[in-house]
Amino acid sequence: MELPALSIHEVKDLLASGQVSAVEVAHSVFDRIEAVEDKVGAYITRNNEQALAQAEAADQAIKNGNGGALCGIPLSVKDVLCTKGIRTTCGSRILEPFIPPYDATVVEKLKKAGAVILGKVSMDEFAMGSSNENCAYGVPKNPWNLGYVCGGSSGGSAASVAADECLASIGSDTGGSIRQPASFCGVVGLKPTYGRVSRYGLVAFASSLDQLGPLTKNVQDSALLLNVICGYDEKDSTSVNLHVPDYTSALVEGLHGITVGIPREYFGEGLDNEVEQAVKNGIAALRDAGAHVVDVSLPHTDYGVAAYYIVACAEASSNLARFDGVKYGFRDTDAKTLLDMYRHTRSKGFGDEVKRRILIGTYALSSGYYDAYYKKASKVRTMIVEDYQKAFQSCDVLVSPVAPTPAWRIGEKIDDPLSMYLADILTIPANLAGIPGASVPCGLSGAGLPIGMQLQASHFEEEKLLQVAFNLEKQLALPVKKPAGIVS
Ligand code: GLN
Repeated sequence: MELPALSIHEVKDLLASGQVSAVEVAHSVFDRIEAVEDKVGAYITRNNEQALAQAEAADQAIKNGNGGALCGIPLSVKDVLCTKGIRTTCGSRILEPFIPPYDATVVEKLKKAGAVILGKVSMDEFAMGSSNENCAYGVPKNPWNLGYVCGGSSGGSAASVAADECLASIGSDTGGSIRQPASFCGVVGLKPTYGRVSRYGLVAFASSLDQLGPLTKNVQDSALLLNVICGYDEKDSTSVNLHVPDYTSALVEGLHGITVGIPREYFGEGLDNEVEQAVKNGIAALRDAGAHVVDVSLPHTDYGVAAYYIVACAEASSNLARFDGVKYGFRDTDAKTLLDMYRHTRSKGFGDEVKRRILIGTYALSSGYYDAYYKKASKVRTMIVEDYQKAFQSCDVLVSPVAPTPAWRIGEKIDDPLSMYLADILTIPANLAGIPGASVPCGLSGAGLPIGMQLQASHFEEEKLLQVAFNLEKQLALPVKKPAGIVS
């Protein structure tokens, strides 16, 4: 197999034994990007020059025997994270000229570990979307079939991993944005517990829901990358000061003593037959690995979407107030008055979906409506938390589909925001409760599109999540099939 198609662990071994250099690895990925990027469109900003310098430094570190955990590993980063000296657009026109003067904590950690940062990958504007069609810099395509969406909002992350335009990527997940694109593109996506990974330097969408995590080619790489990026950070008051385990040591074979719960509400109306079948095969595989399987109920699942779109929009309307043409990025310079400058900057700088969310959020928070919307949504959120608490009394990990369907055609839902929102029904609850969730490939549809299985665990139980993910991957042993939509 070509270098860019390998996992982080495989490339680490080749680097450690001196069979390849980090510079060779970097060039092989640059070549791969050159070959397929025209079709996939995963990147917004490339960073070849700095990446090459990082690869050279990695070779030196390997020679000196002091390379970090990701020494010489080329990664892509969602364009929602501040990168010092590299443009950070968040998929929006309003941040088109924005070059951050500092690195997000996660980026700093990647660099410290020796990673090679290839560039910034596509996303829905301000991470609002489920298809990556809300991006001001073009729509990335699903590498498995270029007529289909790659999911969102971390679509560029998922597409770049699936198309071998990087070895792994970092995405963000507010309502499913790591798990759903991972599912649509056939890669492993992990949203850690809220507070596990620092959000410092992440452009905020909905601060009580946002969390960063890895998108990788396999579960082992996910564990490794999580270890690199997680941990307490005094710069993020919501990051938690808790011991960080070695996630790789959680990857043990066998699931004896583990109970997986099947939430019945996740298998309801609207679930695609092929998705249901693939997930059921996955459940059988977990049983074969020794897991005990029980039925559980999460009775308030249906209310998650409504509560989320109030809470997330309310927080977004407040977070996005800072983009006013004064402090960051784009400014409309034709305006004659200060008020017009604000108005025109925001009218021209934001796309339609972002405007819609700001309007919903502002309305929901306005006096007189607060109790009817925001307060009610917060109550629903508590009920969802309680559902999970009850379910986790009888199981360790919840297993379900990630999304009700495989990827849809580009354009299919773009004029129907409600149907796009409803597609998040199975991923949103984990964000509302702050628990970790993952997507692991569990099959392909008849049309050849990937299907992911969602795993959810209680707060800070990423080890159990990864153990189940690891066994699922092993048991299913899906044939290494690469996306056929692009040149291989
Ligand atoms: N699709 C959801 C939304 O549009 C989730 C986005 C995300 O997780 N960033 O809000």
